[in-house]
Amino acid sequence: MTHVFHRNPKVSLKTAVNGKGIRLFDSDGKSYIDACGGAAVSCLGHGHPAVIEAIKHQLDTIAYAHTSFFTTQVAEDLADFLQKKAPGNLNHVYFVSGGSEAVEAAMKLARQYFVEIDQTERRHFIARRQSYHGNTLGALAIGGNAWRRQPFLPLLIEAHHVSPCYAYRDQLSSESEEQYASRLARELEDKILELGPSTVAAFVAETVVGATAGAVPPVKTYLQKIRAVCDKYGVLLILDEVMSGMGRTGHLFACEEDGVVPDIITIAKGLGAGYQPIGATLCTDKIYDVIVNGSGFFQHGHTYIGHATACAASLAVQKTIQEQNLLANVLQRGEQLRGELHQTFANHPHIGDIRGRGLFVGIELVQDRESKKPLDPALKTHARIKAQAKENGLLVYPMGGTIDGRLGDHILLAPPFICTEADIS
Ligand code: PLP
Repeated sequence: MTHVFHRNPKVSLKTAVNGKGIRLFDSDGKSYIDACGGAAVSCLGHGHPAVIEAIKHQLDTIAYAHTSFFTTQVAEDLADFLQKKAPGNLNHVYFVSGGSEAVEAAMKLARQYFVEIDQTERRHFIARRQSYHGNTLGALAIGGNAWRRQPFLPLLIEAHHVSPCYAYRDQLSSESEEQYASRLARELEDKILELGPSTVAAFVAETVVGATAGAVPPVKTYLQKIRAVCDKYGVLLILDEVMSGMGRTGHLFACEEDGVVPDIITIAKGLGAGYQPIGATLCTDKIYDVIVNGSGFFQHGHTYIGHATACAASLAVQKTIQEQNLLANVLQRGEQLRGELHQTFANHPHIGDIRGRGLFVGIELVQDRESKKPLDPALKTHARIKAQAKENGLLVYPMGGTIDGRLGDHILLAPPFICTEADIS
């Protein structure tokens, strides 16, 4: 009898006892290739000596100091690193303990910015129907997964949704990518006009969609067109890179590839690579200056923000990625992975789409390729694939259920950046 309140108490779980490189081991001695890093977290694999050493060193000096009393050198160093690498003038880094917290901080930053500049009517957040931004109440409210939101609806702020950028299903055969992007940008503009431009605070989107649809990148020019619509109406652009950021796509920030700088960006999973819980919300000078020169105080905070040991782990992760030029490996191995999947499943009737960027790869399952009709949800194919793969010693991240009023089964692969050509094969 377990006293841990597990997320799914009816499922009996194996006990993980060890991890090394791309592999995890359970207490029966069974070995698993970790091809998804949990939920795209373990980007350096398991048991990385440089990260473990950095954590030990930090614990020997200062494990934690409350941020209302002190800063720590390691938090300053990590913020410097992120500021230098971030696109545009995303110069200010607010550390939190995970992805949902990063999104909550982003929403509050946006709201407080408008309060400080006396645009207090701006309260609406627009997001996309196919999105996941976390499970805390603010992040849950803006997310697009109706099933996750449903039981908690009375507790959630009103949020507004527009279509995702999902070319596989939604780009018309008569449309170019650019025309499709323009159509989506017009839809956002219409939504802003419908709500009243002076009432909209921010548009929130994942740069590459992760947990609701399996690594769906935007079509070219989409984010640029969205940025232009936001600018036209003074609406802030928040990009959620909790899953797609920190190198997962082959760029430290996924939006670099789209040539777009948001006003606020959130990062988490790959930031600490699972060695410590950490996330961050970065904002531009425009937002920071208004708050610092206004009330002088971000009216938000948690006990563990800027946690020194988490920052030390994260700094070691990021240094390792840079020193070993792992982003180049992410791009190469990502190409290889998608290439081999295409080859392997070239004639498979139920593989509808294989997509992604870098080592962020999604597989969409369908009844048949022609109609793209989703599989019967009662079959729970995604869950059966997860279970069978695990049985075979491979960990993959499944998704299924109703998203955006549609049903779909997807498999997400997010192998560690250290993987070799042979590992991928
Ligand atoms: N945002 C995105 C894009 C995510 O994928 C997730 C988690 O999967 C979150 C936010 C929430 O992060 P966390 O689970 O660390 O709270």
